[in-house]
Amino acid sequence: MFIDNIFSDDRDEFGYCIVCLDRFPKKALNSRDECEEHNGETLLSDEEREDWDSFIENIRK
Ligand SMILES: [Zn+2]
Repeated sequence: MFIDNIFSDDRDEFGYCIVCLDRFPKKALNSRDECEEHNGETLLSDEEREDWDSFIENIRK
């Protein structure tokens, strides 16, 4: 499944937009890993952010 591979290819200079999952230079992504086009679309409450962080943790294992 594609999402399983998103975080395995974590080269320094590239990242993935968390919304569209396209690959971008890290400098084109903001602190929430959103591309310019999707900037602000994943704004989460702290509680939701924790859920997301544990989701990331789980799929990184
Ligand atoms: Zn995007």
